Parts: sequence; C-alpha cells; structure tokens
Amino acid sequence: MERRTFFQNAKRIVIKIGTSVLADEQLNFNLSFFKQLAKKVSALQQQEMEILIATSGAIAAGRVELGMKTRPSTLAAKQAAAAVGQIHLMRYYRTAFDQEQLEVAQVLLTHGDFQSRRRFLNARQTLLKLLQLKAIPLINENDTISVEEILVGDNDNLSALVSVLVDADLLILLCDVDGLYTANPDVDANAERIALVDDIKSVMGFAHDTNNPGSTGGMRTKLEAAQHAGSYGIPTLITTGQDLGQLSQIFRGEDIGTLILPQQKLRSRKHWIVHTLKPMGKILVDAGAVEALKKSGKSLLPAGVAKVEGNFNPGDPVDVAGPEGQPFARGLVSYGAVEVDRLKGQRSSDIESILGYKTQDEIIHRDHLALL
Ligand code: GLU
Repeated sequence: MERRTFFQNAKRIVIKIGTSVLADEQLNFNLSFFKQLAKKVSALQQQEMEILIATSGAIAAGRVELGMKTRPSTLAAKQAAAAVGQIHLMRYYRTAFDQEQLEVAQVLLTHGDFQSRRRFLNARQTLLKLLQLKAIPLINENDTISVEEILVGDNDNLSALVSVLVDADLLILLCDVDGLYTANPDVDANAERIALVDDIKSVMGFAHDTNNPGSTGGMRTKLEAAQHAGSYGIPTLITTGQDLGQLSQIFRGEDIGTLILPQQKLRSRKHWIVHTLKPMGKILVDAGAVEALKKSGKSLLPAGVAKVEGNFNPGDPVDVAGPEGQPFARGLVSYGAVEVDRLKGQRSSDIESILGYKTQDEIIHRDHLALL
C-alpha cells in the first residue's frame, strides 16, 4: 500500500510521548510543547481521527517538585516521585488542552489490566467510551502501585499494549531522535535513518539504550513495542517529538521517521480468532442473520440470535451457526451466554432496558468476527 493511503486510512492512533520530549535534561518542562500538542490533537480530531496519548514524565515532574537531583534508585522513591509528579503532569496537559476546548482523561494502568480478561475488557470499554465522548485519554503506568511483578516498566511497551487493547490502526512513538538509525547517530556520523522496516527481526541489532538520564527506554524498548504491536497487525512509527509540525506531514504520507510494518497482515486478528482460539460456545442465528454476516459484512445483532449453547463470558470466542447448527463464523462475543440468551430476538435499542446496562449494540462486532 502506498505510504499516503496507509496513513490516510489510520483512524485510531496511540501517540506515546517520552519524558525526553516533555522536558530537557535539567528537567525543565517545555510548556509550549503541550500547547502545540493540544493544537495538533485538536486538528487531528477534526479530521475524524481518534487519538489516545500514552505519556511519561510523572517521575521527572515529581523529581522537580521534590527537589530530587538524581533519578531515584529505590522503588519507593520512584513511586513517591510518580505520585507527586503525575498530578503536575496532568495539570500541564489539562491547561494546554483546555485552550483548545478539549477534555482530557487520566487513565492509569498496570500490567494486570492487560493480563486478566475481565480487566482487559473493562479498560477497553472505558477507553472506547472516552473516545466516543471525544475526551483524550492520557495514559500512564500506575507507577505508585506497580510493584516489580506487575510492572510493565516502560511506556514504549505500555503504549503497545494499549494499541492492542483498543485495536489501534497505528502506534506513534515520539522520542528525541527522528527514527531508527543504522548506528547510534550521537556517536557515529555515518549512521543513516531507516525509513521503512518490513521485517523487524532484521533491525533488532540496531537498538541501543538511551543516553538521556531522565528517560527509561531507548531504541530497544521501542523496537520491543513495535514487535508487540506488529504481532497484532499494528504498525509503529518512531519519530521525533521535537517538531510536532511533522504530525501533519506524516498523515500526508511524507517520508518521516521509521515506519515499522506489522509482521502479520492487518487481518491477522481474524486469523487469530479462527486458528488460535477455542470456541467456548455457540450462537445459532436465523437465516436473515446468516445472510447479513456472510454476504453484507454486518455485525451480529441481538435480533438475529435464535439460540445460545454453552457457557461463555464477555470477550470469549464463540462459533456462529445457521439454523441447522453448522458453524460458519467465529467471533469474540460482547455479552455472556446468559445475557445473549436474554437478548435473543430483541432490538439493540432495548438492550439497556432488558439487562439494566449496555456495553455494545452488537452481540459480536464485525471487527471481531471472522468467517470460517
Ligand atoms: N511511567 C513513567 C513516568 O511517567 C515513565 C516510564 C517511561 O519513561 O517509559 O515517569
């Protein structure tokens, strides 16, 4: 696909912003960066894009407030700095985004939120709801309560997990270099920027750690993040946060940063649904729904459901079968078996009055449905 078409099709985007973008080495926070960012995000939102921001900088902001000259070495000191700093970090965003009449929302996650299916789905629903409400999620790791065992540890990897969580079309990692280089550009004059990476394994050797004392990762964690996102079909762009004007150029398809293509085709998710997941139950649908799912690429709505078999929970894989019981599709279901049974034959607009709540209009959204 042409680079331009590719970026023009990207609608849901996670932008990760590193500490080195937000503050200099003396930890002076660059308030004009926040202002510019708010302007850019507002412009992208007007182009119908959905933006989520994964932001670092809590520990750095806390160090400033607490007068900690060096990076805290103990976990408790880091956690204390993050607790103090997170408030100030949010204040910087809030002040800047206010100017653009944009609402922001603080979302603090830990690794556990990605591991348990229930918490995964819960975080997902919240983030999707925020996007629907046009509030910009500002996501960081919940450093204050993240002990070693549940720590993601760096926001590059955290942002990749978030991209998967919300099915993003693109992950952008903003850092202090304008892409991945064949060698460390700080020390090697012959280092060249790599514009496009087809096979991430071929560039893993180019990763080096950061020299910036305020930052956590380096290219290594960025490539890890790209690899993780890529294994779910999500491409990653690594570029500098120093020039936010570039964001518009990126979406015009200009050659900026390093674009890392996913290892799997974009429809890999569907492949995964069909080949990796074990169905936990079966939903039999009427002839009209068979037609709509097979021929018109529609989602499965409550009205089309005729019968429910098995015991499944929201998010579980289930088979979808026609009236004669032969499965023809598999998908991730939005409601549990008991709820789907109660909703069968009903209208989506009645879901709330039947269940007392509504998470989705669809029993299985098209994005989570694959034909067998
Ligand atoms: N969560 C950390 C903070 O906000 C940053 C981790 C990272 O820089 O990757 O300070």
